[in-house]
Amino acid sequence: RLTSEDMKALIGAMQAAIAENAERLTALDQAIGDGDHGINMKRGFDAIAADADAICDKPTPQALSAAGMKLVMSVGGASGPLFGTLFMTLGKSLPEDFECGAFADAFAKAVDAVAARGKSSAGQKTMLDVLYPVSDALAAGKSVGEVAAVAAEAAEATVPMEAKRGRASFLGERSIGHMDPGSCSCSLLVNTIAAWIS
Ligand code: ADP
Ligand code: MG
Ligand code: MG
Repeated sequence: RLTSEDMKALIGAMQAAIAENAERLTALDQAIGDGDHGINMKRGFDAIAADADAICDKPTPQALSAAGMKLVMSVGGASGPLFGTLFMTLGKSLPEDFECGAFADAFAKAVDAVAARGKSSAGQKTMLDVLYPVSDALAAGKSVGEVAAVAAEAAEATVPMEAKRGRASFLGERSIGHMDPGSCSCSLLVNTIAAWIS
């Protein structure tokens, strides 16, 4: 269970991590997309941080839903609705008084909702290639450090994949050899949350 102060600290940590890595995320998207992923994510997390007081007044599930709405409204592109769906479904699926098992169940539902929204599945070089392994690690009861390591490895594992969804798929085989930008930001966020918890 997260207090309002916890959530504010987490939002601040995520905003800072995205801001620090915005250039890197944009560079990844320049290689296989339209070069805006860092800018998009920064806009989204700046919008959440600007409204952190109101968002964090709510119980955790409603706060997650509100953060998801902010992402949908501010990020744009392909990733806005997808990250928005992740946070909103997580909020909708989480009981108010949750522990690790309930969080893992809600996270699994949220990842399925992203896949449905994106008409995408594992192995297509998208954010799902990080979200599914993270979901599996949570369901297996792995430690926070282990989950973070799984996310980082999963993002690396997108490098040799050929993109089948999103703008990178227009490049076909030329998308091979670059990390998927959305996978990189998912890994970044998971690692930021993990570092904050421990
Ligand atoms: P855009 O492609 O509209 O410019 P972004 O650059 O912000 O949006 O985000 C691109 C990222 O979104 C990709 O790296 C990928 O991880 C993710 N993505 C794109 N399309 C899909 C999809 N159909 N399903 C899941 N993830 C997707
Ligand atoms: Mg882009
Ligand atoms: Mg774009």
